[in-house]
Amino acid sequence: MSKTFKNYVNGEWVTSDSNETISSINPADNDDVLGLFQASTINDADNGIDSAYSAKKEWSNISQVERGNYLLNAAKYLENNSGKFADSITRECGKAILESRGEVGRAIALLQYYGIEGSNPIGDVVPSINPKILLYTKKIPLGVVSLITPWNFPLAIPIWKMAPALVYGNTVVLKPASATPLIATLIAEMWDYVGLPKGVFNLIVGSGSTVGERLINNPKVNAVSFTGSTNTGKDIAVKSAQNGNKFQLEMGGKNPVIVLPDADLNQAAEITISGAMKYSGQKCTATSRVIVVGDILEKFTELLVEKTKSLIIGPGIDEKSIVVPVIDKHSLDNIENMINKAIKDGAEIVHGGSKINEGFFDKGNFIQPTILSNVEHDSFIACEEVFGPVLSIISAKDYDEAIEIANSVQYGLSAAIFTKSLNLSMDFAERIEAGVIKINGETAGLEPQVPFGGLKSSSSGNREQGKAAIEFFTNTKTIYVDRSAT
Ligand code: NAD
Repeated sequence: MSKTFKNYVNGEWVTSDSNETISSINPADNDDVLGLFQASTINDADNGIDSAYSAKKEWSNISQVERGNYLLNAAKYLENNSGKFADSITRECGKAILESRGEVGRAIALLQYYGIEGSNPIGDVVPSINPKILLYTKKIPLGVVSLITPWNFPLAIPIWKMAPALVYGNTVVLKPASATPLIATLIAEMWDYVGLPKGVFNLIVGSGSTVGERLINNPKVNAVSFTGSTNTGKDIAVKSAQNGNKFQLEMGGKNPVIVLPDADLNQAAEITISGAMKYSGQKCTATSRVIVVGDILEKFTELLVEKTKSLIIGPGIDEKSIVVPVIDKHSLDNIENMINKAIKDGAEIVHGGSKINEGFFDKGNFIQPTILSNVEHDSFIACEEVFGPVLSIISAKDYDEAIEIANSVQYGLSAAIFTKSLNLSMDFAERIEAGVIKINGETAGLEPQVPFGGLKSSSSGNREQGKAAIEFFTNTKTIYVDRSAT
């Protein structure tokens, strides 16, 4: 019998008035149900928002240093419970356990960073043209912020939103993806343990079309921070603009790697495959296209296949697994359909291409790591996000054509180049349309103390993480104090 978990509102664990639940299922073993979670209603969403609304005045009035201390205490809690969090991430979203431990480490680093940010300046003193005037700016909280998050980084993404939101004085309502409510519940337990004042953090589990929509449309909400697919994000942008709310959107990617003939091909292949196949390509920054320049195509394709053959496929809980199950059966079918469409469009499978159903694998959502060659740069598979372990090889006659191909899609999240040329590396950094750029590095993998976000349809432009987060989670007052009048 699975345990039933509750929403967290105004410091209390509460059930939904729907009397319905959502199950969280292990992607590696669909018989393993992690628990039942509230299928919340619009009324539940309103209760969460009311709670955040009631708490906002008191929370914004306490010292920023004190708010930071709550985050530092949360970081300690996470450190003390890191094994439980990592195991739960792996069980709930299928991630390889080493990567889950990495995600927990990243969440701790984010809480520490924004905890310390509690003691940092929150405005500027600026010279006035009148020496008698003290001219300064002050950052103020937005109020109630809705956080709508995806399943693929169920701990790090909510934390990288809520840590700056809270330290700068906002109160929040979190709606996690329906596939990963357990990790969100563990986050609520963390805030409960550290004694965050009632109503400052609220958790409402439920569908995007019910709870998600209400978290955007309720008039007491002042801003929405969303990470997820581009279609959902665009819809949220329209609704938020209509409500006059600030919005922050981080969305999909179709991240390219360009390989030049002078690169260390072995290293380039190793890193490209790591970016494409780890976590089965379910990272927004996963490598999805490799654009190979000149006459190295055949040799580089062989290297890619060789590296992929050595990857161990299995459940994330096994420390050796690199290629893990995808989130659910719907996603599995979608990936297979996209591969089939690519073949109809003229692509060739050089490795993988099929679901894995034998033995233990039948219980989970496994698909072979797949490499496609002969991919036209403007075909469906080369332009649309797959969110699975599928890498498309595209050939380019020279560097300029490779840049053109890389920039030809609607997305602009992350991109990498492999070359020994300093000049071309710097030229790439200038010309590539991406928010995250790696020179001789993997498209995936970020550090928390620097801004993160994409260009074009990958982002609304307001950066997350690092110092940049203050721009989204605060408003600015400019204050003129004229001493000559006193
Ligand atoms: P999704 O868009 O389906 O869902 C994201 C969240 O939005 C979920 O909580 C969902 O319930 C909610 N939602 C869905 N419809 C909604 C609506 N109409 N109104 C309000 N909320 C709604 O995305 P997903 O499948 O959970 O995540 C995968 C996607 O996220 C991929 O496209 C990936 O690239 C993207 N992603 C982007 C980043 C980034 O930082 N750029 C990071 C991780 C994932």
